Amino acid sequence: MSVPSHRIVIIGSGPAGLTAAIYAARADLEPLVIEGEPSSTSDQPGGQLMLTTEVENFPGFPDGVSGPQLMADMRAQAIRFGADVVSQKASRVDLSSRPFGVWIDDPESPTPTHMADSLIISTGAQSVMLGLEAEQRLIGHGLSTCATCDGFFFRDQEIAVVGGGDSAIEEASFLTKFANKVTVIHRRDELRASKIMQQRAFDNPKIEFAWNTVVDNILGESVVTGLRLRDTITNEIRELPVTGIFVAIGHKPNSGLFSGQLDVDENGYLITEADRSTTSIDGVFACGDIQDHRYRQAITAAASGCMAAIDAERWLESLH
Ligand code: NAP
Repeated sequence: MSVPSHRIVIIGSGPAGLTAAIYAARADLEPLVIEGEPSSTSDQPGGQLMLTTEVENFPGFPDGVSGPQLMADMRAQAIRFGADVVSQKASRVDLSSRPFGVWIDDPESPTPTHMADSLIISTGAQSVMLGLEAEQRLIGHGLSTCATCDGFFFRDQEIAVVGGGDSAIEEASFLTKFANKVTVIHRRDELRASKIMQQRAFDNPKIEFAWNTVVDNILGESVVTGLRLRDTITNEIRELPVTGIFVAIGHKPNSGLFSGQLDVDENGYLITEADRSTTSIDGVFACGDIQDHRYRQAITAAASGCMAAIDAERWLESLH
């Protein structure tokens, strides 16, 4: 059986991948989008926006839009222009020669499932979570991993941020624009964040610290109503009534599929050339959170998806 061959294969279907698909499809490149598996909770089709109830900062939606709706619309738009979307996960890629091999299902199979003249990688990143069962239920309902996205919903409320790194302290400081009080919950008695950010947080009268403390459980059936906290030294349990909790204990890029083949930074993010989507291999482009640990916004991911499609189109043209 011959292996289907594509000019562009896009792996990942968040705002970056689907924007790349819209642009590539409109350039008549008939991209194949490997969107992921609907059953997966960590890297589901649509990416992190599938875990976001309300998106109010994506331009063009004055009344806001739900994350899943925004992704369904981007997907429909890509298909309308000729993108082919498969609801499966890529299990292996071979970038050692062109055309590139892309496997779905059995990674041990000697034959790839698809061949690609060019590849756009938009597999995103995941927020590291606490591992509590309540997180699945309450994400988007008082539990968030993005202060820039969701801080606005917590005006005049009391909320908490978990973590002690730069992300947690930056988010806590940002959230004081809206919330009355922000409690930073950290498992040690010393922050990991840079000194200057620490000092800014210590000086902020709206920020309190719960040191040597971990979140034992998040309370609330349909919305967050509080936290059960445990002191790591005394084991004492107490409840903190909050309406929101921001988990900021790090992010993990979904770059395992490419390890050993593409250059990554010390945290596993794919390295792209400055202001471009080109990676360390000719014909392989990356966009969205897989190569961006700074902005992590739907709009920046979408913009970088557009860049990747244009870079790939021009690169394909340059071959002829
Ligand atoms: P990070 O530096 O790895 O910090 C993660 C924090 O979460 C640490 O304080 C860690 O505690 C805590 N943590 C990890 N797992 C936990 C768990 N299961 N339960 C409770 N707490 C847990 O991650 P980050 O803050 O996202 O920063 C990532 C990188 O981006 C860093 O290099 C950072 O400097 C950079 N960054 C820079 C800026 C900026 O400069 N404006 C902003 C954001 C991020 P421990 O300290 O005990 O390990």
